[in-house]
Amino acid sequence: MLGQEPSAPARAMVRPYVITGGRTTAHLTLPLEALIQASPGAGADLQAGHQPAVLSPRDLAALRERISGPVYGPADEGFRIEQVGSYGAPVHRPAAVIGARDRGDVQAAVQLAAERGLPIAVQATGHSSLSRTDGALVISTRRMRQVAVDPRTRRAWLGAGVIWRDVLDVCTPHGLAPLCGSAPGVGAIGYTLGGGLSPIGRTYGYSADYVCSLEVVTADGRIRHVDPGHDPDLFWALRGGKGNFGVVTAMEIELFAEPSLYGGGLFFRAQDAEPVLRRYLQWAPQLPESCTTSIALLRDSSGMQLRGVAGGQGVVHLRVAYLGPAEQGSALLAPMRAAAPLIGDTVAPMPFTAIGDVHEDPTTPVHVDKRGALLSDATDDTATALLSAYDATGDSVFCVELRQLGGAFSRRPAVGSCAGHRDAAYLAFTVSAPAADGAASGGQRVLGALRPWSTGGVAMNFLGSANDPRDVASAWDPDSHRRLLELKHVWDPANLFRFGYPLLAEPPKVSPEAKALLSRCHDPTSIAELAAGLGLPLGVVRVLLTDLIEAGLVTAYQLDPERAGDTQLLKEVLHELRRRL
Ligand SMILES: Cc1cc2nc3c(=O)[nH]c(=O)nc-3n(C[C@H](O)[C@H](O)[C@H](O)COP(=O)(O)OP(=O)(O)OC[C@H]3O[C@@H](n4cnc5c(N)ncnc54)[C@H](O)[C@@H]3O)c2cc1C
Repeated sequence: MLGQEPSAPARAMVRPYVITGGRTTAHLTLPLEALIQASPGAGADLQAGHQPAVLSPRDLAALRERISGPVYGPADEGFRIEQVGSYGAPVHRPAAVIGARDRGDVQAAVQLAAERGLPIAVQATGHSSLSRTDGALVISTRRMRQVAVDPRTRRAWLGAGVIWRDVLDVCTPHGLAPLCGSAPGVGAIGYTLGGGLSPIGRTYGYSADYVCSLEVVTADGRIRHVDPGHDPDLFWALRGGKGNFGVVTAMEIELFAEPSLYGGGLFFRAQDAEPVLRRYLQWAPQLPESCTTSIALLRDSSGMQLRGVAGGQGVVHLRVAYLGPAEQGSALLAPMRAAAPLIGDTVAPMPFTAIGDVHEDPTTPVHVDKRGALLSDATDDTATALLSAYDATGDSVFCVELRQLGGAFSRRPAVGSCAGHRDAAYLAFTVSAPAADGAASGGQRVLGALRPWSTGGVAMNFLGSANDPRDVASAWDPDSHRRLLELKHVWDPANLFRFGYPLLAEPPKVSPEAKALLSRCHDPTSIAELAAGLGLPLGVVRVLLTDLIEAGLVTAYQLDPERAGDTQLLKEVLHELRRRL
């Protein structure tokens, strides 16, 4: 019968076995008649081990044949420039860097990485290059800068390497605007996969909520179109799950009518920080959702090139984006303009394309320590704690920022995503000098002083230098984190995507026996065959398999118990599994 199409009932007999019960007893429930199959890429990843991987000149030549963009090995000119990112440090040692030109290049790179067991890192602008990419195949998307806008549906289609400036330039001539971040030079995809906190977010919510669909290359090397109707669990996980589930090659977003923007910054002297911060924390909770603000203490404005003030001084910078008439915005802002003597005031009606002038984020690359924390509230006592910690850290802290959340940030979208912590009132963010190994940075000490108001969570895009999976977990609520871990085992069982705020850092660690077992079940294989092949008792094989199932490295398919002894059925099922997998 092998070689013939199995009957429909036979197909229904095959279903994945799901582990239930505690770790110590789970192996007893693994049915002996189950058929075992290794997950795609699992064996390759384990063979690569934990050492930084190297690609041979032949591997690089093979890559060049499959990829239309440039391929750089460590010895090639262009390698460092392509992969180094904006910050120049720390120095990364990837196995190779690919300058992808299109989704075909991305797919070929992912397929090769999966074959060789190389982990994959993605880079658009390199703004998050604080996390190392040693041993990875880096896919650089900066050549994929296409933007298409459909004014009729009010949607835009963005290539993987697009920055917000590109989107603003293409959309605003149509009277449409994207829900972008504070810095137009930041990558639109990396920003949105991290949730996306816009400087007008209190009016509109998280940018991830405006994603209509994504095109993504998953760990199995397939290009998928993902939206609420296609792979909805992956759609949920990608929006807020950062780069943990694949390489996004394009993103379709909803636009909105370009609003009238009354925005800019108010600047105060550093010595007025106390009255200004106290006034801000009383004033901000009264603001309507049409007004999004943040306040930053800047140690030295020299490197900032702020339009409102001369360099070389400490300043307090209030950033304002009000969507409405200038007179109303001006009336709202009056209490803050009177909080202390102003040394600069750039708040005025502005075109939406100038949204970057609200924050005036630095564009010059610097290697710094960045930390974030979400606060459930901020009061007069918070101001006292923040200011005394900021003063105590001396020059090591360059910037402490509080962004007001609430408003539309706190609402859940119709189509859920894992972008989380919608109940927070403020985001605190610090930029400071990197600390010596093991020591807390100045920013960490400032955030430590704010612990009484902390929710325990962090916004994904403001995790900054916290790149350990235990810290990354704080970007989601516990239920979402649990679900993400389950989905990670489904979509990326070999943990190929483990750079840039990873859910799981290391490839699953398995014993040599389990590795040997894994190498024997590329095709569906019975437990008895595995035990005989390895010369191990059945009980030991069941225990090893249970661990591998839990790690997402193999799947066990079980049969209907009533027909488990049916030879004909077993043949049909084997055929079906081989055909399907
Ligand atoms: C000056 C500045 C201002 C900022 N302002 C804001 C703000 O207002 N609001 C906010 O929410 N965030 C803000 N951020 C944070 C910013 O959104 C993140 O650092 C974001 O990750 C930058 O993305 P990138 O593509 O520019 O950086 P990259 O370093 O190129 O990429 C960062 C990470 O994004 C993921 N990624 C990027 N592209 C892809 C892809 N195609 N597929 C899968 N994963 C991908 C990867 O995990 C990658 O490691 C700001 C950052 C800077 C430097």
